[in-house]
Amino acid sequence: MSQLGVGKEVLSYCNKCKLTLAHLIVTMKSDTTIGKVQCKTCQGTHAYKDPSAVKASKTRRGKKTKASTKDSISDIWMEKVASSSSKSQKYNIKTKFELGDIIDHPKFGPGIIEKLIDADKIQVIFRHDIKTLIHNK
Ligand SMILES: [Zn+2]
Repeated sequence: MSQLGVGKEVLSYCNKCKLTLAHLIVTMKSDTTIGKVQCKTCQGTHAYKDPSAVKASKTRRGKKTKASTKDSISDIWMEKVASSSSKSQKYNIKTKFELGDIIDHPKFGPGIIEKLIDADKIQVIFRHDIKTLIHNK
């Protein structure tokens, strides 16, 4: 970035065009910091916006939204396990479980009984999944 100066061309994000476009530098804040630029497409003058900074913040926001959706089961799971006063029991098809019981499943790990579906079926929230299991056989 040694060629910066008033009248030089630079790539900047344009808020009006919603694109990264060629702009002409109108003012400089310092030798290395661009002040205002003029869009060569819409002729609008605005503060310089680093296109790489605009792109980076968009990517971050996208990732955050995705992660929070993915975490919802484990969030519910964590909340339920933390608020339950039941002791963890080993999961066994013959045992009769009650609502709110914490079970220790050999494959899925610790889970909490969320719903009694049937006399012999329970819905259990595990850390990464919600499963229907058989009990009381
Ligand atoms: Zn523009």
